[in-house]
Amino acid sequence: MKVGFIGLGIMGRPMAKNLLKAGHELTVYDINESAVKDLASSGARTAGSCKEAAAGNEVIVTMLPNSPHVKEAVLGPGGVLEGAEAGSILVDMSSIAPLVSKEVAEAAAKQSVVMLDAPVSGGEPKAIDGTLAIMVGGPEEAFEQVKDLLGVMGASVTLVGEIGSGNMAKLANQIMVASNIAGMSEALVLAAKAGVNPETVFKAVRSGLAQSTVLDAKAPMVLEGNFKAGFRIELHIKDLQNALDTASELSVPTPMSSSIIDMMKELQGDGKGADDHGGLIQYYEKWAKAQARS
Ligand code: NAD
Repeated sequence: MKVGFIGLGIMGRPMAKNLLKAGHELTVYDINESAVKDLASSGARTAGSCKEAAAGNEVIVTMLPNSPHVKEAVLGPGGVLEGAEAGSILVDMSSIAPLVSKEVAEAAAKQSVVMLDAPVSGGEPKAIDGTLAIMVGGPEEAFEQVKDLLGVMGASVTLVGEIGSGNMAKLANQIMVASNIAGMSEALVLAAKAGVNPETVFKAVRSGLAQSTVLDAKAPMVLEGNFKAGFRIELHIKDLQNALDTASELSVPTPMSSSIIDMMKELQGDGKGADDHGGLIQYYEKWAKAQARS
C-alpha cells in the first residue's frame, strides 16, 4: 500500500521500517530530521511536512507523543488534512485522549477522510519485532482495509469498537500496567527493608498467582537498577492523566491511578521523568530508605 508515516520516534521508527520490509511504499515525516534521514536510507521517500506526507497516499499513519501533537499534525497549518485525499484512511497509532480521537475524526470526516484510533502496547522490543498488541477504534469497513497493514506491525490487531475505543482500551492497559509496577515496587522494597532478598522473593513468587508479564519484564531490570527507558515515566504520566480526565468526565473513581500519578510526578520533579516506568520503584526506595537492587 502507499503509506504516509508521521512520527519516527522510539516506536514509529521501527514500525515504519517493518512496513518498508514488508514491501509497502512509504513517505515519511518527522520534525526530527535525523529520524527522516534514517528512514530514507532504508528506502522511504521523504516529505517536508505532514501535508506532504499525507498527499497521494491511501493510508496515513501518525505515531506522535500526545493529543496536542496529533491535533497539530492533523488539523494544524501544513497538516495531514491539507494534503490527504478524499477516501484515504488516517490511522492514529499514538496513545491520546479518546475524546480527542473523536474530535479529530469528526474534522477528518468533513474532508471524507476516515480515521481509526489504533494505539499499541508492547514497547520498543515489540515494535522492532512487529509483535505489538494493536487496539483499534472506528468503522469496521476501514478497519478491514488496513487490518493486514497493521498486522505487519502487530501480533494482535483487535477492533474494540467505535472511534475512541482503541484509546479507551489503551488507557485500561496503562492503568493495569502502572498498578502492576506499583504493586511489584511496594512488595520488593518492603522485602528489602525486612532484610529478605528481593531477588529471591521474585524467584519464589513468579510462577504463583502474582505472575505477570509486567513482573517478568520489569523485576529483572529494577533488581539491576537498570532504568533505561523503554517506556518513559513522563509518557506514563501522560497516559494516567488522560485516564483521570476521562474518568472525571464519567464520574468513575480512580484511587490507584491518582496515587500512582502522584508518585510518578514526584520522580519527574527529582529529574527522573525520562527513566523507564519500572523506575517507579525509586519512589518507594526513597521513602523506605531501602534499596531493592542487589
Ligand atoms: P517519541 O517521543 O520517541 O516519538 C515521537 C516522535 O514524534 C518524535 O520523533 C517527534 O520528533 C515526533 N513529532 C512530535 N511532534 C511532531 C509533529 N508535529 N510532526 C511530526 N513529528 C512530530 O515517542 P514514542 O515512544 O515513539 O511514543 C509514541 C506514542 O506511542 C506515544 O503516544 C506513546 O505513549 C505511545 N507508546 C509508546 C511506547 C514506548 O514504549 N515508547 C509503547 C506503547 C505506546
